[in-house]
Amino acid sequence: MQYDRILIRYGEMSTKGKNRNRFVVRLKRNIQKKLKAFPNIKIEYMRDRMYILLNGEPHEEIMEQLKTVFGIQSFSLAMKCENDIEKIKATALAAVQQFSYEGKTFKVSAKRIDKQFPIGSNDLNYEIGSHILRNTKNLTVNVHEPDIHVRVEVRKDGTYVTCHDIPGAGGLPVGTSGKAMLMLSGGIDSPVAGYLAMKRGLEIEAVHFFSPPFTSERAKQKVIDLVKKLTKFGGKIKLHIVPFTNIQQTIHRQVPDGYSLISSRRMMLKITDLLRKKYNGLAIVTGESLGQVASQTLESMFVINDVTTTPILRPLVSMDKTEIIEMARKIDTHDISILPYEDCCTIFTPSAPKTRPKREKVVHYESFIDLEPLIEEAVANTETIVIDEEFAAEDEFEQLF
Ligand code: ATP
Ligand code: MG
Repeated sequence: MQYDRILIRYGEMSTKGKNRNRFVVRLKRNIQKKLKAFPNIKIEYMRDRMYILLNGEPHEEIMEQLKTVFGIQSFSLAMKCENDIEKIKATALAAVQQFSYEGKTFKVSAKRIDKQFPIGSNDLNYEIGSHILRNTKNLTVNVHEPDIHVRVEVRKDGTYVTCHDIPGAGGLPVGTSGKAMLMLSGGIDSPVAGYLAMKRGLEIEAVHFFSPPFTSERAKQKVIDLVKKLTKFGGKIKLHIVPFTNIQQTIHRQVPDGYSLISSRRMMLKITDLLRKKYNGLAIVTGESLGQVASQTLESMFVINDVTTTPILRPLVSMDKTEIIEMARKIDTHDISILPYEDCCTIFTPSAPKTRPKREKVVHYESFIDLEPLIEEAVANTETIVIDEEFAAEDEFEQLF
């Protein structure tokens, strides 16, 4: 007897009332896309759980991939049998025997969900537990901290046995919270912000500003590589690359030094908002973290934010840099982010940007320049690339968790 399926628990979204069905259908679709390489699997879903029937496909590889799918609280290899006590005992024993159990401890937790079944949960625990003990060597019971936790659920459609719960990525299925534009620089922070936005169920489209010839093709490639990493969690992601040279040079020439950074950030946000409208997004995500650098004081955020009323989500707002770096390592974007290719902002960064800019001042300085045509031109010349997970090398998955 072999494990023939993977049981998936949803966690948070199973409490979402009427929306649940939409969430579950989306999760199924996301899992199906993720497991495209395994054509024989079949996915069955119900209100509170999902089963992937393996049909001979390799469970180790599939479980590795499931770790990156948001909306899964935990998953386990499982076996199914009829609601018959002898079959249940044999299945539970077989489930334990698939592991190298010698010298280990175990515990049985049976749940009788189908009340028609004649044996109660306590008796089930006893019967199954003693059957396992009788038929194994060097395996003992530990009800507090067992190495192997044999869970048996007697449901209407059959009995399910699992031995190990593997934590999933948590969060909500990507796409169930709507769409947002992610302002993606080549830095450490914004890819992490994108990851966290997707974790809460957002579909993202990335927007990157680049300033050729001041920024090179390599800097652009770096952003493409970062998006590739994010596709592991979000599936296909669009990347909009906005030519920003004209605007940046104009600002650099016309706006006093201390205000040029703030002004270019305002233009980036304005353009991102236009793209958001064009592609039907409802929010903008940035990698800003309060107080991290000059443009991220509350005063700066206030002045930059002034160009739009669109919700701006800042998933990193309260995180310390060390926490952000740790997360960037975990999602494998860190080593790309620290590559030293120049970013459009570093080149034009003034020596002393204002940390307490005034809204009236920046509006006044900008009033002398006609930025609108430049903004229109930048939007018109934006290049969009669709990046899919296939681009990502398969062997990178192993390093992830
Ligand atoms: P990051 O590591 O994400 O670059 P940072 O600490 O360098 O962040 P800033 O350079 O002040 O911070 O940028 C703040 C946010 O503005 C970024 O997290 C990103 O969301 C956005 N941003 C900055 N530069 C660009 C760019 N060239 N293209 C798109 N978005 C950008
Ligand atoms: Mg940056």
